[in-house]
Amino acid sequence: MFTERQDEKVKDKLGRNINYLRISVTDRCNLRCKYCMPAGVLDVCHEEILRYEEFLAVCGTAVRLGINAFKITGGEPLIRRDIIPFMAELKAMDGVRAVTLTTNGIYLEEHLPELVRIGIDGINISLDTLDREQFADITGTDGLSRVVTALTATAESGIRTKVNAVMLRQTRSQILPLAALAETMPVDVRFIEVMPIGIGRFERGLTEDDALAVLQQKYTDLRPDGGTHGNGPATYWKSEDMRGSIGFIAANTHKFCDACNRLRLTSAGFLKSCLCYDLGVDLKAVLRGKAGGTLEGAIAAAIGKKPQGHCFGEREEITEGKTMNQIGG
Ligand code: SAM
Ligand code: SF4
Repeated sequence: MFTERQDEKVKDKLGRNINYLRISVTDRCNLRCKYCMPAGVLDVCHEEILRYEEFLAVCGTAVRLGINAFKITGGEPLIRRDIIPFMAELKAMDGVRAVTLTTNGIYLEEHLPELVRIGIDGINISLDTLDREQFADITGTDGLSRVVTALTATAESGIRTKVNAVMLRQTRSQILPLAALAETMPVDVRFIEVMPIGIGRFERGLTEDDALAVLQQKYTDLRPDGGTHGNGPATYWKSEDMRGSIGFIAANTHKFCDACNRLRLTSAGFLKSCLCYDLGVDLKAVLRGKAGGTLEGAIAAAIGKKPQGHCFGEREEITEGKTMNQIGG
């Protein structure tokens, strides 16, 4: 069970403040990233996916428990119909401090004015390479120019913008071009180690230290900036040459579970306690009357099941069998 409520924050049994919920609103995606949802990964059937009113019921209860920041993710959230009204409703909910979005950027430009209008608190755009052919090879789609156009427009709109780049061995040559985006635009560029979840377990990527070594050759003044730029576990570095910062999400080599603040809700309504394990609570069963108890009790139970840390280093202990598009990253 969670142990106390303090300053409107829920603490788990290890004293970690749980104030952040990531929601995968769909497992479907218009891209086929090779480390996430390559061709052949099947969609979950529609009836199994939570309806918006079900997501909102979960969020309303989560807010009462002290969770006040929400990330909308997927699959690709911008391909789900009526996603903007859903986010607007969540934004308007009492007690909600921040609603942010993670997107592959393909359909972002046309949604940007509405996202500005609803006051979205931040947009993360996934972009692993600035090489057109490599982009097509990684994602299965010739869509680089759409993503770059959307990224530029988002950064110019004043919305807090971050680039998420998963570090693959084939994208080593892209570390400097991607980092240079933080020179020309007010964006944080975050380099992410591939996590051994879903299809990711078949990928061997680069580490934070690999990327840092490349970056420090060009940006000799690169230093940790000591800040947290949102809800997440990224550590940030800064150079005088940059308008934004460089971030690292290095779950494999720089474990950050001591500061874990999150739960993850899958598109099919399973509330996950930790990325690594198939641990959590089936909220859909509670929502649809197939399990007893209350939503509040079920969310508290998921918090109570949070383990001390992930087991990416001991892969045989990973019990999560779902793919990242179902989980939401
Ligand atoms: N489609 C959206 C997008 O790509 O931003 C949202 C969903 S996607 C699952 C969320 C994030 O998870 C993306 O930045 C993606 O690169 C990342 N991701 C997917 N599989 C991963 C893995 N195995 N390890 C690390 N990050 C992963
Ligand atoms: Fe789709 Fe995002 Fe997964 Fe790529 S990383 S396949 S864009 S869900």
